Amino acid sequence: MTSDVFADIGVIGGSGFYSFLDDVTEVPVDTPYGSPSDSLFLGELAGRRVAFLPRHGRGHSVPPHRINYRANLWALRSVGVRQVLGPCAVGGLREEHGPGTLVVPDQLVDRTKTRAQTFFDGEPRPDGAVPNVVHVSFADPYCPDGRRVALKAARGQGWEPVDGGTMVVVEGPRFSTRAESRWHAAAGWSVVGMTGHPEAVLARELGLCYTSFALVTDLDAGAETGDGVSHSEVLRVFGENVGRLRDVLFDAVAALPATTDRDCLCTRAHDGWDLGIELP
Ligand SMILES: [Zn+2]
Repeated sequence: MTSDVFADIGVIGGSGFYSFLDDVTEVPVDTPYGSPSDSLFLGELAGRRVAFLPRHGRGHSVPPHRINYRANLWALRSVGVRQVLGPCAVGGLREEHGPGTLVVPDQLVDRTKTRAQTFFDGEPRPDGAVPNVVHVSFADPYCPDGRRVALKAARGQGWEPVDGGTMVVVEGPRFSTRAESRWHAAAGWSVVGMTGHPEAVLARELGLCYTSFALVTDLDAGAETGDGVSHSEVLRVFGENVGRLRDVLFDAVAALPATTDRDCLCTRAHDGWDLGIELP
């Protein structure tokens, strides 16, 4: 593999995270699970090789429930990625998590409905390979080392992050009703998003480290007395914060351990399991 098509750090996020880099190579990747949301965009950052993947495709044409999450994670791993950073926009479920808050969650709750969320379902793939049924540990869904790096990077940019909390992931593409939002808040969860799952579990199934950077763009419906969440408000707050979120991500990229130095629970995801398929 030439360096042009190698990267060991992946960032799943919008074009705002790579469009200004000079030396970007666009790499189309196909996978046994179909096509990812877009090409990978590979470049160098702080001496590290990074693959950027627009989660919703360029032009934001793929809604959260139709993203091919399996293809996205497989594609990243196939170019060498072992650590993934996942910035996303979320709604805040607590008054103190207002717009502009950065949450680095340590837990998630899956309320999605229709998404393929495993590589290991025992079903033959189109290429004839047959994965075994595998049950990975997911008690701690995010990489503890990645979280530490994320928190330090945010503080280094003068942005005090929320250390921990639970992201509930809903199917979308609609926003929550007030009743759903009150329910999520009453359960003690922190933020609500549409893309954090199955992204995190598929990363774990491939033995990848995954760290979520959840930017609060609105107070979710039940947490406010106004008209509820609007897409234009989400875009406005995201736009106001995308610059410093990018700075935090880039500092985190620079501070992540080398692939060969990883010693976190993510690297032990397959201990004791026969996968039945080769990972790229
Ligand atoms: Zn890890």
